[in-house]
Amino acid sequence: MSQATQSKGPQGQSRDPRGRGPPVYGRGPPGGIKGTNDRPRRPRREPVEEVWIPKTVLGKKVASGEISSLEEIIESGLRIQEAGIIKKLLPDLKSEVVDVGIIQKMTANGQSTRFRAIVAAGNENGYLGIGQGKSKQMRIAIEKATSQAFLNVSPIKLGCGSWECRCDQKHSVPFKVRGKGGSVRIEIIPAPRGLGLVAGGKIKRLLELAGLKDAWTTAKGSTPTMNSTSKAILDCLRQTFSQG
Ligand SMILES: [Zn+2]
Repeated sequence: MSQATQSKGPQGQSRDPRGRGPPVYGRGPPGGIKGTNDRPRRPRREPVEEVWIPKTVLGKKVASGEISSLEEIIESGLRIQEAGIIKKLLPDLKSEVVDVGIIQKMTANGQSTRFRAIVAAGNENGYLGIGQGKSKQMRIAIEKATSQAFLNVSPIKLGCGSWECRCDQKHSVPFKVRGKGGSVRIEIIPAPRGLGLVAGGKIKRLLELAGLKDAWTTAKGSTPTMNSTSKAILDCLRQTFSQG
């Protein structure tokens, strides 16, 4: 009794030991033959998070906890050569692609095409860095730009330089700052609380990443050139340490 009933499949049809159904000619019914696809599915591979292994002496000190703030590194004048150092010290850093482009040039073999990406990294509270990367593949260009942006992260002094507000919160720049990059000249003027950022789309996003909430801006030059514009903004924001 048991032998005969067990050998039958769930649909009551007997199957051969290889688990195949009756022979089907042509393409068969759409979706395949029922019962042929009952082998276990290979589980989808989970993306593994990369573990940072420090390579430099400074990186090892940061990883072991000997150095616990970015200010310590900047004050001692050491050079940060690993993006992992910044990631460890500022875990809330966000990165954002600011601009992407294509570079084409003629070579002896024809045209060579590469991609260029500009990425900004900031924690929306006093840190901003900007990096550029180029590669034959877009994804690698963005990766390069991101690690470059992490390496470029510099502190920004936030404050309230507005005479209309006179609070001591960190919502604007402490005073008027100017910066340049290429032909682009940018000026950031402190504004009272609640005003918001008076700036064009991409400049606004960069200032937000830096942690500014209220400011007026003026820009001169070829501002669609994000390469120059992002440099000008970073130059501006670094000036917040120049006085007072
Ligand atoms: Zn204020």
